[in-house]
Amino acid sequence: MLFDSHTHFNNEDLTSLERQALFNTVDNAVKDGRMSGAVDIGFDLPSSEMAAEHARLWPWCYAAVGCHPHDAKTMDDEKLARIGQLAAEEKVVAIGEIGLDFHYDLSDRDVQRLWFRKQIRLANELMMPITIHAREADQEVMDILVEEGAFSDERKNRFGHAGVLLHCFSGSAEFGMQYVRMGAYISVAGPVTYKNNRKTVAMVGAVPIDRLLVETDAPYLTPVPFRGKRNTPLFVEYTARKVAEIKGLSFEETAEITRDNAKRFYGIDE
Ligand SMILES: [Zn+2]
Repeated sequence: MLFDSHTHFNNEDLTSLERQALFNTVDNAVKDGRMSGAVDIGFDLPSSEMAAEHARLWPWCYAAVGCHPHDAKTMDDEKLARIGQLAAEEKVVAIGEIGLDFHYDLSDRDVQRLWFRKQIRLANELMMPITIHAREADQEVMDILVEEGAFSDERKNRFGHAGVLLHCFSGSAEFGMQYVRMGAYISVAGPVTYKNNRKTVAMVGAVPIDRLLVETDAPYLTPVPFRGKRNTPLFVEYTARKVAEIKGLSFEETAEITRDNAKRFYGIDE
């Protein structure tokens, strides 16, 4: 049974009809045993509100709340307080996605840094797992996580791991292993299926299977063979199949292990 550890039912390009259809498709996959659940990930306050609402509506849906570096410019302390309130809800399982994106630079870098730090502090106060988005800022993201205590003993004692997940990780095998030794989890999305992505294939080969999660980041990053189409949580299957191939495991084993990892990371027990 597959678990999509990072998706966006809250994507603003979906009409409410499309969103409903998407929920129904995943609900059917849950009912017939192909999927066990998904985490709807907030990227600003409105999308975090939506993610929390989706988690209230669908038994298999969980939420993360937080502000993406692209949207850091929309943040203020009042909104941060509201994110903190949402985080207290039962099925809100993480703060995220938060981090730095120096590829697009859609928010000023200092504004990104400020809200990344403030949201790590919030996650520490609330003792919650953190989902990280990092692009062209790998080392600085790691440095800030360390400085803000994301790998503290307190967090490790609480979770049994650091409670840090590198979403759609694009770093090297060596960098991935550095994170794993610090107690983090690594998640891979559709790009691992892309031709010539040797770097991510090598990274997946190196990272222990009990620290790997699979995700779609739908509606983006559609895996092969559906690349070019709009992504859906069901396509997490193709990323899991690629991980299985790299690890020399069966698809079924990979689906079970990555689902268990996602549940352990997010602290979901059912
Ligand atoms: Zn995302």
